[in-house]
Amino acid sequence: MALTPVFPVSPPPLVPITGQPGQGFAVHRIFCVGRNYAAHAAEMGNEVDREAPFYFTKSAHALCLDDSIRYPLGTTDCHYEMEFVVALGAGAHNVPEAAAMDMVFGYACGIDLTRRDLQAAAKDKRRPWDLGKDFENSALIAPLTRAADFGQIGPQSITLEHDGDVAQSALLSDMVWSVPEIISHLSRYYHLRAGDLIYTGTPAGVGPVQSGSHLCGQIDGLSPIRVGIT
Ligand code: MN
Repeated sequence: MALTPVFPVSPPPLVPITGQPGQGFAVHRIFCVGRNYAAHAAEMGNEVDREAPFYFTKSAHALCLDDSIRYPLGTTDCHYEMEFVVALGAGAHNVPEAAAMDMVFGYACGIDLTRRDLQAAAKDKRRPWDLGKDFENSALIAPLTRAADFGQIGPQSITLEHDGDVAQSALLSDMVWSVPEIISHLSRYYHLRAGDLIYTGTPAGVGPVQSGSHLCGQIDGLSPIRVGIT
């Protein structure tokens, strides 16, 4: 017998797409890559493990398109992490690297907000990172640009300004794991599908936000992400 929900079901969040007015990219899952820029791994006291990338996830309902958010609950050390976000438009598993880019729908600027104090406490106790990473409004994203409009991933600059000062600055080509390598590796563990987002890690220069902070993240060729913390 078919079941009906006993309360309203939240629809998937929809991300605007540049050049496709009225249409949205329906988000399925959010994967995030850890330590994908060597200088950021170093600033966190870690070394890059070139043998294997690792991931954490955020709920699709952590996604936020707003230009203003409240300071998150339960933390006194919330950090910004500016990231290049890959949006998948097709599904598959065990994808070879040579075919991985065929699955890409587009790209966006994103910010992986992190409750660093809770993440650090979890690391100390060898517990999962969920409290530090997966919380409301923790996956900020700007409108998507279609892959064909963006072109090849290369030495595009990725920057984040905090209250007008450049805090993070790197090149997409600084990533330890390339986008096809990440997609291919992830697809060995998940049946990837259209609607999945991959936050590909952050460059060095992460830091705390306060109530009143203004963040502006930019990647060459993409719509910038701007958010204020209230
Ligand atoms: Mn991150």
